[in-house]
Amino acid sequence: MPRARTAARATRPPFRIGLGCDRHPFDPARPLVLGGVAIAGAPGLAGHSDADVLLHAVCDALLGALGLPDMGRRFPSSDARFRGAPSGRFVDEAVAEVARAGYVIANVDAVLLAEIPRLAPHLEAIRAGLARVLRLPADRIGLKAKSGEGLGWIGREEGMAAQAVALLQEEPPVASPAPRRRPAGRRVTGRLDRRGARRGGGR
Ligand code: MG
Repeated sequence: MPRARTAARATRPPFRIGLGCDRHPFDPARPLVLGGVAIAGAPGLAGHSDADVLLHAVCDALLGALGLPDMGRRFPSSDARFRGAPSGRFVDEAVAEVARAGYVIANVDAVLLAEIPRLAPHLEAIRAGLARVLRLPADRIGLKAKSGEGLGWIGREEGMAAQAVALLQEEPPVASPAPRRRPAGRRVTGRLDRRGARRGGGR
């Protein structure tokens, strides 16, 4: 391993944790997309991109774990390139940053906060979608939905929020090939003469 990488590994914490949260108001004219999955028959969310509030929270958790600027600074809504963009694109970039820093995602846990629509019937599909975007097995993803219990702007059905935590762990080192071992047997010393007879040595 090059010396610089060895030094980076020596000073790198073995784990890093990140927290993300996001919120978007409803826009019934748009489709609702959560974890990259379109939810039919539900009001969508307003936003510059596809307004996938769950992926935004997860993306910020990954960037936060690495100590990088959040989505608002990295993908500003003033940038026309991100208008209507699928949010998987933002998560792809965050996942690439995780790998570049020498980490893998251990697990992600997230909460969707919404009074409407009822998310329970969609949770498994959304979880599978999130796993696909993160390229993780679904059992590394926790996903819950909580209603607003009639309280505040969520309870008044004005919009939806999401929270996420992500744990990163140091990428396992690539195993170097084992040194070649001499075949087991009696150690031979001394030199052979022209006929193959042993002279000297063996002491
Ligand atoms: Mg957002």
